Amino acid sequence: MVARLGGDEFVALTTGSDSEREVGELAARILSVLSIPIRLDGRELTVRGSIGIVEGPTGERTAAEVLRSADITMYRAKAAGGNRYEIADAEADARAITRHGLTMALPAALERGEFFIEYQPLVHLGDGSVHGAEALVRWLHPQHGVLGPDRFIPLAEHTGLIVPLGRWVLEESVRQARFWEQQLPTHTDGGPLRINVNLSPTQLHHPGLVADTVAVLERSGLSPAALCLEVTESALIGADEDLLKPLRQLAEMGIDIALDDFGTGYSNLANLRRLPVSVLKLDRSFTQGMQQHPADPVDLKIVEGIVSLAHSLQLAVTVEGVETGAQAEQLRELGCDTAQGWYYARPGAPDRIHTLLLADAV
Ligand code: C2E
Ligand code: CA
Ligand code: CA
Repeated sequence: MVARLGGDEFVALTTGSDSEREVGELAARILSVLSIPIRLDGRELTVRGSIGIVEGPTGERTAAEVLRSADITMYRAKAAGGNRYEIADAEADARAITRHGLTMALPAALERGEFFIEYQPLVHLGDGSVHGAEALVRWLHPQHGVLGPDRFIPLAEHTGLIVPLGRWVLEESVRQARFWEQQLPTHTDGGPLRINVNLSPTQLHHPGLVADTVAVLERSGLSPAALCLEVTESALIGADEDLLKPLRQLAEMGIDIALDDFGTGYSNLANLRRLPVSVLKLDRSFTQGMQQHPADPVDLKIVEGIVSLAHSLQLAVTVEGVETGAQAEQLRELGCDTAQGWYYARPGAPDRIHTLLLADAV
């Protein structure tokens, strides 16, 4: 039986075949029939399909469960490039259902104040003093406990909720930075204490970015020079002037722009000079390469090369994921300026940064 559910979605129900192989063959046949071009008004149109297969004995699941599983599996086929079929799998279904649940819960979570921020110090490699802190958002979910950003930032980005969520993170962390500044007026040797805030690609495209940022800074009284916005390298690959303009405006106000996860996105190095960035954040994968003893000499050469290129473009270099003293020493010798990682501190509550700053001041 074939039925149309609506739009471009159809359901095909078949009985008799009793193996995954047989239904797989049927799906492949459907796809190959669909792929025959259709002639319309002298033009050739091609149709593609994505199929989700649920196979099993009748009566084991309700009709609604079967349809939901088929739907989830069809979306998996689409996400894998489309024009193919996938077979339902209970684990993948469960993950999709959780993701869906989390996505639906995001707006209320923001209203109810279920998000909080942990801060991880950024340290000067030269003398180990605190240079600033990166704000990392977490979600205290009433059922699932504390969820890391990798679990919900992609979902928030997908629905657009990242814009109000990101604005909240900015507001909250700038307020916190201003508090540290007022508590510790002695932290002046290396300029103001920096607060680093992550920006997602969607926020970058949002027309309110510059105005919102200016408003947040003005309300808090924090100087623009104390703020660093982190944008991933992959978000800026191939960026045109329209996308760069807001970042340029922010940079002109004195806000630092950091290129996050640098080295993972295969960006054109010559392109760097065109970007309004003042900091390169070397991805954790470089630091991991230094775990072995002795470190791979080619890895060292690569980092050395990036550092010297960055410095010749007047960019500061921060390294991420420093987990051992040996790594820190090596990276300092290679000329990196600041570092971040478990060796210094894990992300934590704001008063931990406060304690570190007090220790520095002494
Ligand atoms: P990121 O910007 O690269 O942040 C650094 C991540 O590395 C953090 O993970 C941090 O906890 C982890 N990390 C720090 N030191 C070490 C170390 O020594 N070893 C290892 N193995 N890991 C270390 P986290 O907090 O899970 O954040 C993951 C990503 O989520 C961040 O990657 C960032 O891209 C995103 N994110 C976090 N907060 C926000 C936010 O407020 N807005 C947006 N748009 N994205 C955010
Ligand atoms: Ca970051
Ligand atoms: Ca990073």
